[in-house]
Amino acid sequence: MPELVFPLDSSKPFTEQEKLGHNRWHPDIPAQVHVKPDSTIRVHCREWFDGAIHNDDSADDIRDAPLSTVHVLSGPIAVEGAQPGDLLVVDIVDLGPIPQEDSGPLAGQGWGYTGIFAKQNGGGFLTDQFPDAYKTIWDFRGQTATSRHVPGVSFTGIVHPGLMGTAPSASLLAKWNAREGALIATDPDRVPPLALPPLPDSAILGGLTGEAFDRAAAEAARTAPPRENGGNQDIKNLTKGSRIFYPVFVDGAKLSVGDLHFSQGDGEITFCGAIEMGGFIDLHVDVIKGGMEMYGVSENAVFMPGNTDPQYSQWLAFSGTSVTLDGEQRYLDSHLSYQRACLHAIDYLTKFGYSPEQAYMILGAAPIEGRLSGVVDIPNSCSTVYLPTAIFDIDIRPSASGPTQIDPGMGVPRSSL
Ligand code: ZN
Repeated sequence: MPELVFPLDSSKPFTEQEKLGHNRWHPDIPAQVHVKPDSTIRVHCREWFDGAIHNDDSADDIRDAPLSTVHVLSGPIAVEGAQPGDLLVVDIVDLGPIPQEDSGPLAGQGWGYTGIFAKQNGGGFLTDQFPDAYKTIWDFRGQTATSRHVPGVSFTGIVHPGLMGTAPSASLLAKWNAREGALIATDPDRVPPLALPPLPDSAILGGLTGEAFDRAAAEAARTAPPRENGGNQDIKNLTKGSRIFYPVFVDGAKLSVGDLHFSQGDGEITFCGAIEMGGFIDLHVDVIKGGMEMYGVSENAVFMPGNTDPQYSQWLAFSGTSVTLDGEQRYLDSHLSYQRACLHAIDYLTKFGYSPEQAYMILGAAPIEGRLSGVVDIPNSCSTVYLPTAIFDIDIRPSASGPTQIDPGMGVPRSSL
C-alpha cells in the first residue's frame, strides 16, 4: 500500500481530523502534505457532504442538504519543486469505497447515494420538471451497484474523483470572482442561483486561522464549478489508470481531491449527483518543468482516460434538439438539446413501469454516454444520450410485443415538503 499521507477517521467529522482539509479554493491555504516528485501516495476522501446524507428511505436530508459546506476536500498536497508554468502529472493508480467489510453509517462503506436537489436548494439539470428533493441509495457488491429504490437495474461502476485540481494563484482567483460576480449581477435573485459567490460562513481553510482566515474566507472560491485548475469537472472517465496533466499556478502546485463517485452518467445531471461516496485514492505525482508553455496548456487540464471502463457494447440512444418544451426554437443550444434527449429517455423508461424519478436517477447514476452529436446545423444542435441495454433486467428495446413491465417497488423516496 502506498504511504497514507492524508488519513481520515470515519468516526469523526471532517473538521476534527488529524489533518484538516478545505472546502474552498484559495492560494493561501497551507499545504497539509509535502511529497517529492515521482511519489505514490494514498489519500482518504470524505463524501462531499461529510456524512450529512443517510442510508434510509427519506429524502429530507437531500432537501436540507448543507450546500455551503461542500466540497470537503483532502489536501492541499504540495509537490516539491513544482512552480507556476509547470504541468503536474497525476496518475490515478487505484481508488475505491471506504475499505471496510461491513456497511456502516457513512456513504462509501458498502453504499452510496444519488439525490435530486429541490429547486429551492441547489436545483439540477431538469429542475423545472423535478422541483422536489428525492434520494436513492445504491448498494455496492464488488464493482456492481444496485438499489432498493430502483429495482430491475444493476450496472458496473466507473469509480472516479468528481473533483481534483491545483490551487489558483491570487490573480486567477481574482479573475474567477470578477467574472462569476458579473454573471450573478445579471439576475441576483434567481432560484437556483446563476453562480455561488464566496461565502465565509461554513468555510474550512485547512490550517488558516485568525486574520489570515478572515481575509481568505472573504474571497475564497466555492468548489462547485470546474475551472482552469480542474476542480469539480465530474468527468466519469477519470477512472483507474487515468493520467491528468494539471496546470500549476502556485509553488508546490497544491493538489486537492475529493467528491469520489462510485459511478456517474455523463453530465451528472441530477447534480447530487453521481453515486456519492467516501473512499480512498492512490495517486502518483510528477512534474513536467515548463510544461504549460511547452504544450500550450495555458489553462484547463489535459488527460488520458483510464482503460478500466465498464464493458457495455449495446446501447439504446435518445436524441434531442434545441427546441423548448413549449415549442420555442433556440439557436444551437446544446444544453437544451441534451435536456431534451434526457427527457425523451425518461419518458421512454416510464413506459416500462419506472417512475420519472427512477428514470432520472438511472440517467444520473449509471454509466450512460452523452454526446454533442451535431453543433452546426442551424438552428438545431443535436445532443444524444446512450443507455447501455445490459444494465436492465428486462429487454428495453422497442419491439412489436410492447414494453415489459417492471415492479417499481417502493420507488424513490421524496422529501416531505
Ligand atoms: Zn459528487
